[in-house]
Amino acid sequence: MFGNSKRFNVKFELADAVYDSDNPTKEINANTTYDPNLPYILIKINKKILNNSSMKQTKIENAKTVLHEFIHAYLYTIANNPIVGPTDIASLLNKKYPVGKEQHDFMYNNMIPTITKILTESRDFLTYPAGRIEVESLTVYTKKDQSTSEPWNWQHYFESISLEGLSEATSYKTDFQVGSDALNKLELYVKYGRTWLDKKN
Ligand SMILES: [Zn+2]
Repeated sequence: MFGNSKRFNVKFELADAVYDSDNPTKEINANTTYDPNLPYILIKINKKILNNSSMKQTKIENAKTVLHEFIHAYLYTIANNPIVGPTDIASLLNKKYPVGKEQHDFMYNNMIPTITKILTESRDFLTYPAGRIEVESLTVYTKKDQSTSEPWNWQHYFESISLEGLSEATSYKTDFQVGSDALNKLELYVKYGRTWLDKKN
């Protein structure tokens, strides 16, 4: 993503805990911070998403979290430097999104297909056959009142986990309103994936 540039660095840190910058008592999966005084953008990953805490995610969700934070790092770089990468970079990406909330809007509006594609291509490295067999046998309710359902759909699963962490995005709030069928379906996919996809046998 950073091309051949040597000027921009990202540092990963595994932390015992990571907190929301706007709500310091709220523990979160990860965050990315830009500090103009540091020579790198810092991505902190909360160890609890890897271990056996209540925040534990599946391996494929953790991959999504890393992608999500990388996009923040990229957008912070774009926002804080005049020219990055080739000059023909899509004008979309040359827009500046210096604030986390705006970055989440950007991701919601533009990046879900890309994240979904990467996760689709990574699926067989990041999940186990036994777990995949389990989810593929599931029926997922598409309406909250359970009047309609669909067989497990990988595309829908990857879209659902790609949207995790974007709940403050403006369009997310419209598309996944509290109590809606859409939010219920998203939550079911996340839950079923978390239940089964790290199952080895
Ligand atoms: Zn984020």
